[in-house]
Amino acid sequence: MPVFYPPVKPCPCGSGRSYASCCQPFHTGAQWPETPEKLMRSRYSAYFLQDTAYVLETCHPDRRPTDLDLNDGILYSGLTIHTATENEVDFTVRLKTPDGQNHRFRERSRFERLAGRWVYVDGNVSVR
Ligand SMILES: [Zn+2]
Repeated sequence: MPVFYPPVKPCPCGSGRSYASCCQPFHTGAQWPETPEKLMRSRYSAYFLQDTAYVLETCHPDRRPTDLDLNDGILYSGLTIHTATENEVDFTVRLKTPDGQNHRFRERSRFERLAGRWVYVDGNVSVR
């Protein structure tokens, strides 16, 4: 079950907009993100909210993980988008592991349009 997040609060993805006017319509299925950047932001927010179903739904069907568990004690503390192109997004995620350590990783994600919907294909991760 996703964590409840008040719609009036700033969106977890850091867009500066409220959750209700940013990633929530994607999470509820009311809309599908129309750009890779929006998809990426909504996937980050889904990790933040432990919305496993949404993370899986937005993966390319051939690449969907079978053992995804977002209830793993990781706290997501920030997203920075560096560049977003037609089918790639370069971003940094900051997080805190259950042992209290702060980490960050940078990823260049690839996206593909499948039957009119952007989906996540894969990404190159560099840990710093
Ligand atoms: Zn958002």
